[in-house]
Amino acid sequence: KAKRRGNDNFEWFTSDINEKVERHVLMRHEIQEALKNEQFSLVYQPIFDSNKQITSVEALLRWHHPEQGVISPIEFISLAEHTGQIIPLGRWVFEQVCRDMPELQALGIPTIAVNLSPLQLSRSRFCSDLEVILDTYGVSPEQLVLEITENVLVSELTNASSMLNELHRIGFKIAIDDFGTGYSSLRYLQELPIDILKIDKSFVNDVGEGKKYEGITRAMLAIAQELQLRVVAEGVETEDQLTFLKNHHCLYFQGYLLAKPMPLTNLQSFLQNQSVNA
Ligand code: C2E
Ligand code: MG
Ligand code: MG
Ligand code: MG
Repeated sequence: KAKRRGNDNFEWFTSDINEKVERHVLMRHEIQEALKNEQFSLVYQPIFDSNKQITSVEALLRWHHPEQGVISPIEFISLAEHTGQIIPLGRWVFEQVCRDMPELQALGIPTIAVNLSPLQLSRSRFCSDLEVILDTYGVSPEQLVLEITENVLVSELTNASSMLNELHRIGFKIAIDDFGTGYSSLRYLQELPIDILKIDKSFVNDVGEGKKYEGITRAMLAIAQELQLRVVAEGVETEDQLTFLKNHHCLYFQGYLLAKPMPLTNLQSFLQNQSVNA
């Protein structure tokens, strides 16, 4: 019936869905293979204070696909969440961060931020699994910032509040990623153990005199100050944005203007150049 002449739209629609399903099945298999064949790596993007000192780095996942080249996490994280593969993948990320920790500490970088997905947080064993990994590598939880998005807090999958309390009690720092883009009420800011807010880059990219999100960004900075939360502005790309943020009491910055994500080896030379130029 779908192939009936004159029903082009429907035909297009079905082949579109089929293609999508096929691609997902393929990707699912490929992620599995990629883990086995060590095709994943981490890049680190520095987070700076207002004196351009690096206070932390964020670990960001990259997939080196043999045919497609480097694939961004935007392309595969949500799929890995759907298939459950985010569990072994997230575990790999955490272990790799722990393996890199001694080198990062030697560079004088005190903390590393790691992105978590809602599915990871929804597992009751999550916290104890992390503790085992920390033990194995001799890393302490105070050295890690766990980044979660606001959506985690409203997701049905997770009982986020008790998990976050447990993680925080152990010593992990908790950051809200992409702040301002989720659908949760502000109440959680008071009730959950949150240390850091990361203002989403969609706001940061649109600040400056007369720009659309100037007011909201200022208000978010005021809320953070009121609640004594540390604020990181994500996606800072221009000097104007940086100036605006500094003028409104934002103290921490991340973005292409200051540094792009880079492999650990490049971080070393980045820091050397920085101290030469200082
Ligand atoms: P995120 O955690 O909000 O990370 C920030 C993203 O913005 C990164 O993209 C980073 O490369 C990019 N970015 C940084 N500065 C700028 C800038 O100045 N301008 C612009 N336009 N972009 C900037 P990336 O690496 O592609 O990661 C995308 C998202 O994928 C992350 O967003 C995070 O939600 C997710 N992700 C990355 N690694 C992991 C991981 O290990 N686990 C999980 N669960 N998610 C991850
Ligand atoms: Mg993040
Ligand atoms: Mg973000
Ligand atoms: Mg994010």
